[in-house]
Amino acid sequence: MAETIFSKIIRKEIPADIVFENEHVLAFRDIKPQAPVHILIIPKVEIPSVKELSGAEHSKLLGELIDAANAIAKKEKISEIGFRLVLNCGPDAGQEVYHLHMHLLGGRKMKWPPG
Ligand code: AMP
Repeated sequence: MAETIFSKIIRKEIPADIVFENEHVLAFRDIKPQAPVHILIIPKVEIPSVKELSGAEHSKLLGELIDAANAIAKKEKISEIGFRLVLNCGPDAGQEVYHLHMHLLGGRKMKWPPG
């Protein structure tokens, strides 16, 4: 699958409001925020979506995305009041960018079920 705009953000070829970075993970603010805090947490390696995840290495990577989400939620002061993590996979879920990403949403009361 062709690379996405997120690969350019990883390589710092286009700007993004980066809030977290380590060896395997990058996180930046969503350009069209759906909540006061809306951050995308992505692996630096190109994986199109959740359905391509398998095996121990990917499980570890997913754990690293969650570790990053927890660290960012604390920094954004939404860890105690609550937040939502969303992984859209495929057309029916509304996935637009085919580079695996976890949405971290918070800072407002969320509804359930989601739209
Ligand atoms: P999804 O629908 O799960 O694929 O989400 C893709 C998200 O990427 C959307 O919320 C977009 O607003 C966001 N997005 C697309 N391009 C950029 C960008 N250049 N910088 C930050 N967020 C982006």
